This record gives sequence, structure tokens and C-alpha cells, in this order.
Amino acid sequence: AKKHGRNRYHFFTKDLNEAILKVINLNKEMRTALKNGDYKLFYQPKVCLKDSKIIGVEALIRWIDKEKGFIPPSDFIPLAEENDFILELGDWIVEEALNQYLDWKSKGIDIVMSINISAKQFLQNNFAKNLIDKINSKKIEPNRIILELTEYILIDQNNSVYATLRKLNKFGISISLDDFGTGYSSLSYLKKYPIDYLKIDKSFIDDSFNEQGKVFIETIVKMGQALHMKIVAEGVEQQEQVEYLKSIDCNLYQGYYFSKPIKAKEFEEFYKSLEKN
Ligand code: C2E
Ligand code: CA
Ligand code: CA
Ligand code: CA
Repeated sequence: AKKHGRNRYHFFTKDLNEAILKVINLNKEMRTALKNGDYKLFYQPKVCLKDSKIIGVEALIRWIDKEKGFIPPSDFIPLAEENDFILELGDWIVEEALNQYLDWKSKGIDIVMSINISAKQFLQNNFAKNLIDKINSKKIEPNRIILELTEYILIDQNNSVYATLRKLNKFGISISLDDFGTGYSSLSYLKKYPIDYLKIDKSFIDDSFNEQGKVFIETIVKMGQALHMKIVAEGVEQQEQVEYLKSIDCNLYQGYYFSKPIKAKEFEEFYKSLEKN
């Protein structure tokens, strides 16, 4: 038994070493990928439930490695958030999304652009100022830009979060609270902070076929709208869900039912094909 135990210990150490090496490699590769231009933003349409029109897109990052192929954001965003690489990557994401917004606008596709911002990125000194300067210098109307933030950011203990949100809000940028209902939800900050959109997490939308699930969704919609927020349903995959969300006056939705996140060029063609009809 002892021998067995020691072997097992040995085995675990080997596994652990491999895991550590993997993380170290990934850390290096993440940075190289930025230099090599291996990140791409994909775009998922945000659709108005009332008239089925596209009002905007959410930018979602993809890492396309020449050897490993497609690496999903869940495999590297958390790691990037653990060290400061997310700041560099986040800057690239913002720049890229704003430029795409302008490119589409010049082609007559005037839609709102939603950008995911991670906590560390948002909590940097001068985040608001730098973003506002950037948007000004590109002559973008701030009300065409939405930042998607998770609840995690709002539980920050000091008041810097409030000041940053106020600054962005006064300038005209919209704030969307992402993954609503999954995090450290506290309703008090819905009152306290200037939030324009509530995004109901997919896990709630998945539950829209049972009565209890519906109670949650309808409560979030009613509460958010009473606080003058627009409600976005995320991860909508079926027509029945669209009908249901429409029936309860939810404002917007995203999901595979309408479209997966797609390349900019693909979105452009999709958008134009819809305009013709
Ligand atoms: P998120 O912001 O909650 O994004 C929604 C995720 O759900 C996306 O996964 C999207 O592709 C996926 N999704 C959308 N509709 C459906 C659907 O109908 N069914 C299913 N099964 N999935 C759907 P993705 O692109 O893999 O991104 C995962 C997460 O990674 C995002 O969650 C976000 O937290 C993070 N992320 C992605 N791009 C960025 C980025 O540019 N910056 C930052 N900071 N985080 C990002
Ligand atoms: Ca999001
Ligand atoms: Ca989510
Ligand atoms: Ca999220």
C-alpha cells in the first residue's frame, strides 16, 4: 500500500509539473499571439425583440493559432486576467472594436458596439479618461458604445468604481451589466450605479421552459425596466424562447437562434442581406 501511495504521489507531482509548464507556455504564447496578430474579434448581433432588427453587436475575442487551431476565450481570458496581460490585450480589443465600428459606419452600417471589459482593465487608473480620449480622437458618438461589465466589478470596496462609471455615463457611454444573476448579486448597486442594460445570463434563459425559471426572468425584466434599464437576454437558442421573451416585453436578445458570433466580413454580408428584405 505504501509503495502504491508513493507512486501515486509521484504521479501527482508529475501532473502538477505538467500543468504548471502548460500555464507558463500559455502565458508566453498569449503574448506572442498578440504580436503575431493571431487574435480576431468576432461579432454577435444584438436583436430588438419587437421588430427583429439588429441594433448592435457584441465583440467577442477569438485566438486562432496556426498549430492548435481555435482557442476559446474561456481558455485564456481568465489566465490573462491573473496577470497584467489583460491590460495589453484589453487595449487591443477596444482599439479594434472602435475601428470596426467606424469602418461599418462609413459603409452605412450604423449599429451600437458592445465591448467586454474585464475587472482589472476597468479598475486601472485613468481607464475612463483614456477611453474618452480615444473615442473623442476617433470622433465616435459615445452613445454608440456599450461596455459590458460583470457584477464582480461593482463589489469593489472603494468609490473609484462609482466615479469611473459616472464619468463614462456623463460622457454618454452606456454600461451593460453582464451575466446578471450569476455573480455576487446585490440589488443595492442597481440603484446606486448608472447602468443602462441588464444582461440576463444564459443559465436563466436555459430555464425559460419551466415555471420557476420564468418567475426569475420576469422578475429581472420587471425590476430592470422599473429602474429604466433595457433588458438583454443572452444565449437564446430556440424560437419558443424568442416568442416567450417577446411576450414578456424583454427588450433585446442575442443567441445562436439568430446568429453565432461571426467574422466582421460575414456580419457585413449578413446585415446587408437582411436590409434588402
Ligand atoms: P460573455 O460575455 O457572457 O459572452 C457570451 C458567451 O456566450 C460567448 O462565448 C458567446 O459566444 C456565447 N453565446 C452566445 N450565444 C449563445 C447561444 O445561443 N448558445 C451558447 N451555447 N452560447 C452562446 P465566448 O465568445 O466563448 O466568450 C466567453 C466569455 O469570454 C465571455 O462571456 C466573456 O466573459 C469572455 N470574453 C469574450 N471576449 C472577450 C473580450 O473581448 N474581452 C473580455 N474581457 N472578455 C471576453
Ligand atoms: Ca458579454
Ligand atoms: Ca454569460
Ligand atoms: Ca461575461
